[in-house]
Amino acid sequence: MRDFDWYSRGQEEEFGEALHQRTEELYRVPDSIPDENGVIECPVLPLRDLVVFPHMISPIFIERESSLAAIEEAQLLDQTVIALTQRDPEVDDPNPEDLWPIGVEMAVGRLLEMPDGSSSALVQGRRRVQVVEFTQLHPFMKARARVIDESREVDRQTDATMRTVLELFKKCVELNRSLPEEAYLYALNIAEPGWLADMVVTTIAPSVKERLEFLMTVDPLVRLNKVVSLLAREADVLELEDKIHSRAQSEVDRSQREYYLREQMKAIQSELGEGDLWTQEIEDLKARIEATDLPPEARERALKEVERLSQMTPMSPEVGILRSYIDWILDLPWTQQTEDNLDVKHAAEILEREHYGLPKAKERILEYIAVRNLKPKRMRQPILCFVGPPGTGKTSLGQSIANALGRKFVRLSLGGVRDEAEIRGHRRTYIGALPGRILQTMKRAGTVNPLFMLDEIDKLGTDFRGDPAAALLEVLDPEQNYAFSDHYLEIPYDLSKVLFITTANYTGTIPPALLDRMEVIEFPGYIEEEKLEIAQRFLIPRQLEENGLEGTQIRFTPSALTKIIREYTYEAGVRNLEREIGRICRKIARAKAEGKRHPTLVTPNLVEKYLGPPQFYNLEAERKNEVGVATAVAWTEYGGEIMPVEVLLMEGKGNLQITGQVGSVMQESAQAALSYLRSRAEDFNLKMSLFEKVDIHIHIPEGSVPKDGPSAGVTICTALVSAFTGREVLKDVGMTGEITLRGRILPVGGIREKVLAAHRAGLKTVVLPKRNMKDLIDVPKKARDELKIVPVEEMDQVLQVALSTAPPKRKHLRLLKRLMEEDQEEKSEEETTARRTYTRRKVQSTVTQPGA
Ligand code: ADP
Repeated sequence: MRDFDWYSRGQEEEFGEALHQRTEELYRVPDSIPDENGVIECPVLPLRDLVVFPHMISPIFIERESSLAAIEEAQLLDQTVIALTQRDPEVDDPNPEDLWPIGVEMAVGRLLEMPDGSSSALVQGRRRVQVVEFTQLHPFMKARARVIDESREVDRQTDATMRTVLELFKKCVELNRSLPEEAYLYALNIAEPGWLADMVVTTIAPSVKERLEFLMTVDPLVRLNKVVSLLAREADVLELEDKIHSRAQSEVDRSQREYYLREQMKAIQSELGEGDLWTQEIEDLKARIEATDLPPEARERALKEVERLSQMTPMSPEVGILRSYIDWILDLPWTQQTEDNLDVKHAAEILEREHYGLPKAKERILEYIAVRNLKPKRMRQPILCFVGPPGTGKTSLGQSIANALGRKFVRLSLGGVRDEAEIRGHRRTYIGALPGRILQTMKRAGTVNPLFMLDEIDKLGTDFRGDPAAALLEVLDPEQNYAFSDHYLEIPYDLSKVLFITTANYTGTIPPALLDRMEVIEFPGYIEEEKLEIAQRFLIPRQLEENGLEGTQIRFTPSALTKIIREYTYEAGVRNLEREIGRICRKIARAKAEGKRHPTLVTPNLVEKYLGPPQFYNLEAERKNEVGVATAVAWTEYGGEIMPVEVLLMEGKGNLQITGQVGSVMQESAQAALSYLRSRAEDFNLKMSLFEKVDIHIHIPEGSVPKDGPSAGVTICTALVSAFTGREVLKDVGMTGEITLRGRILPVGGIREKVLAAHRAGLKTVVLPKRNMKDLIDVPKKARDELKIVPVEEMDQVLQVALSTAPPKRKHLRLLKRLMEEDQEEKSEEETTARRTYTRRKVQSTVTQPGA
């Protein structure tokens, strides 16, 4: 087998026959014949940084005179040389100690003159040799070296290692494009372990240092093992390279494919005439963006999205999404603005013309306009919060303010909004995503400075979908709302010029952080006279107009209106009143349209004819003074209410039961009222033991409405005292107030609504905690004048006002009397028999609070 030679393989085609001849010559050089000690003596050829292995053919370059002399001598004698690698390649004139002691005996071919004056020759490695001694140093070195006789035997372990080497080598050849396949075939045919190791090492070309290490390693098996690890490393690297390469390749393939398909599609589209349309559409969009007055950020974004759009084909599903996004940017108002009319007189006129009463709210608006006049560039907009029962004109006043200022008016109801995304929108990654309701409403407004009414802010919900209140905070906070972020739009939107007004029925459920930022303006309920006025001046004309009756002489008599108010509506505002007036107007309109005779004056009789039987009765008129029933005046978010409290006593075991959807605070105030009564038992001529023998049931009717709060304490206590003493409660006395265990009366909230409710319900007297008297200032004078208002500090005062002076009702006292008499007998028996048991029972009964 010919030696595997890299050099000739690469050059054969170039030099052809010449090269072939040169290698033939090499083969003809005989090995030096060793003496009896296995030692040969040859000229030494120092190699700077070249390592030649046995069986390897390689070119070398000869510059040094001494080297040239050594080769010439060898060729003269038809002899081999000993090649020894220098320890340091930089040394020009090496001594024996500069050379590694192990080298290769090699044959040197014909010298060829190179253009630069140096010479080159082909060499062929023959055998590993180890220098024994240098026999000559000048003009070239000569040495005696022992031929290293490698074992050629292949035992089982060596065989296995050789196979591994071959396997790994095969893999490397497969992976490495620059390794020729013959290399593997050649290796496959090498039977000597050492040779195989040397051959593989020369092929995979490690560093000079590694090669040297190999050369120095004399044991073939050790060399083989080293080759295994070298090959494994190489194979790993090659595999990785291969992976990277093929991945890169597949990327290139795919993008090429896509490019190709796209080009094809373009060609088809242009054949169909569609491509032009699409380009036209894109151009139109661009032109629209240029023509619209957008802030730089929005414009940039819109153009960028159009650019993306133009890369797509019209059929792509993303086109719709992108287009509607661009449309949103274009449709939102960014700079369009209405001029504010800051004429205070004009505003006052409009507000007065469109609304009756509501002095506080009107005043606040006029102040706002006045301040804007003085400080036109005032940045911060106040956030007003109109609070009051439904139908008290909150929304319609908002509309009037917008009219007065000349701003656009938009509304957004927050009732039941539970999801932050409703305020702030969904990200575009969602299918069917849209901006939040704030921006949707802004689009409707069409200007950046509308009057924006946020209705029912107290009905905002919170759940797992995020907290809409937090998003609203960003909307309302002047510090943040100049850059409101909507998830869909993704571009900050300036809300700072918007005048926000929120409305609520009740401040209690408004998130405190929101409430903090708002200025609350109360919208009280109306009393009957106010309702009459509003109806005559606003509701009737509007309803006539809406039902096509304007210009007719139709009028409502005050008594007809009063009838509607009292018997067909029960409300703090005027919404139902307007609805009922509307119903009457429609009936008249129908009669008119049918050409029938129709009335021009609406009287109480006509009201009953058109609206049917009354819906509400004046409850008080029907009621009479009763034992165990007291009237509370209560507050609800729909205005004030009157609320009867009933107490019933039954023979039992001292249990207390409260029914009628009563909250825990109200239950506790019932317990407190009972404790007060027990502590005063003697004053009411009641025996303590009585409380262990009766069950008390407190009921607060209209059970479907949840009720809570401490303010019914006074009423419950009054009803209890009445039930235990048999004295009647006056039916036309309403009361409110919290009671302490010692019978002191504490102030409560919602006085205005409560007093109005008492007035509406036709009560004569209202008992109020003394410290609440200051709140009466908000109550219309007429109501104050027509009601007897009694300030109280102690429960005794309440009883004095509320309980009838008539003698106690015997019927009611019968049960109590019997129980107390029984008790008398029992007691005398027990006194003589088991005093101790009695005491224990008594202690127990005081500890066990009757449950509710
Ligand atoms: P809210 O928003 O407080 O629930 P609205 O603003 O919807 O109530 O009012 C209901 C109706 O009552 C509207 O038609 C409104 O014009 C009318 N209204 C309420 N208060 C007044 C008032 N003070 N003057 C004139 N109209 C009023």
